[in-house]
Amino acid sequence: MLGALCLTACGGGPAATLEVAAPPSARARSGESAYPLDRMKRSAGRTAAACPKLELRKFGGDSLRFEPAARVVEPFRKRLLELERIVSEVSRRVYDRPPSAILVAASYGCRSIRGKQRRLSEHALGNAIDIKGFRFAPLRGRSSRRLPAALKQGFDVRVDQHWKARGSSVRRQHARFLEELTGALVESGTFRTLLGPAHRDHSDHFHFDMAPQRYVNL
Ligand SMILES: [Zn+2]
Repeated sequence: MLGALCLTACGGGPAATLEVAAPPSARARSGESAYPLDRMKRSAGRTAAACPKLELRKFGGDSLRFEPAARVVEPFRKRLLELERIVSEVSRRVYDRPPSAILVAASYGCRSIRGKQRRLSEHALGNAIDIKGFRFAPLRGRSSRRLPAALKQGFDVRVDQHWKARGSSVRRQHARFLEELTGALVESGTFRTLLGPAHRDHSDHFHFDMAPQRYVNL
């Protein structure tokens, strides 16, 4: 019944009344290991959201650039390093280069889950990131015979324009990139929550977080 316990972040989702982490047995069943924020309370109190004091870190990227820089807690920063590695790997496979920027829509924000005023969003714990797309600079220094000219130039891949896109081969290539990327992220377990256009209020971005339970709705 793990799915029934899901906390989701920006856009609601299955009902959530959980105060603490899922029991170890549930985590074991889902193949997940413990995470430092698992036992943090996510209750927003009776009225306005009361956000915990956190040591937030500004993270502009290590091997890639986050634009603008994200504000997250240290354990989540480590997840973003893993995200960088996977983004680079898939980008090199699809476009022969890593992106020049990961386009961030949101990171830390003191707020509750939309539609659930008494439940803190993972964004309020510095434990989530929203990504709207990826920027690629023109391919320089070497030619790539396999890439069409349009993909040797600079371009953006956007969740709102290219998720499951059809039409031209370039649009389909972008759709393939987003599909392979999210597939690799789901498989790797880098994040527990992965939301995308299939989830309400997520038509233009991916939301990734480390809420205590696994929930994927892309
Ligand atoms: Zn979000």
